[in-house]
Amino acid sequence: MTTIPGRDQEAAITSLQQRILSCRLCEQHGYIPIAQPLVWGRATDRVMVIGQAPGHRSVAKGRSFSGPGGSILQKWLEQAGFPPRYLHEHTYLSSLTRCDPGRNPKGNGDRRPSPQEVALCRPFLEAELELLRPKVVLLVGTMAIEAFFGKVRLEEVIGTYEERNGMLLLPLPHPSGVSRWLNDPAHQKLLQQALGLLSLWRVMFALQPGQP
Ligand code: SF4
Repeated sequence: MTTIPGRDQEAAITSLQQRILSCRLCEQHGYIPIAQPLVWGRATDRVMVIGQAPGHRSVAKGRSFSGPGGSILQKWLEQAGFPPRYLHEHTYLSSLTRCDPGRNPKGNGDRRPSPQEVALCRPFLEAELELLRPKVVLLVGTMAIEAFFGKVRLEEVIGTYEERNGMLLLPLPHPSGVSRWLNDPAHQKLLQQALGLLSLWRVMFALQPGQP
């Protein structure tokens, strides 16, 4: 990876975000009726969140992680010692796809983006990682975790981390109420283990603004 100094990095991130915002690939390929990409974050952010895809609430508000999952994620950050509003004010919010894939036609919840949609969008995510070089990357939910770790069971990876290219990858379960994984007390313990790591890194790498 190459290091890009401050101003240039900011300009490069802004230009990348503009390219994402003008992308209509999935709409052109007929995967979604309308492409409305979302971007959220600043060049100074040192924690990046990678989720599955934005939902309809986030698109309506023009802000990633605006649904109940975002509130729970913020709560988890606070459990790790981060201040209120850290998620939206100091975290770069990314996802496997940037457009809402729509509702799941088979029932409740959001449709998982197809491998084709994920593949079309992946270069944007790689470019963000390359430009931002976050210290900590939170992989939120099975799809985001498997995009970096391959096929795994959540029990095998929650509470553990991996270092790649100087970035600490921390898998987390999906915070939405739809996921039943957290109903098991043993799984709650794994989540606490993961938040313990995050708390440690917050201090060790001064991830909080104003922290010496
Ligand atoms: S999901 Fe990604 S690749 Fe597909 S249209 Fe949106 S921004 Fe483009």
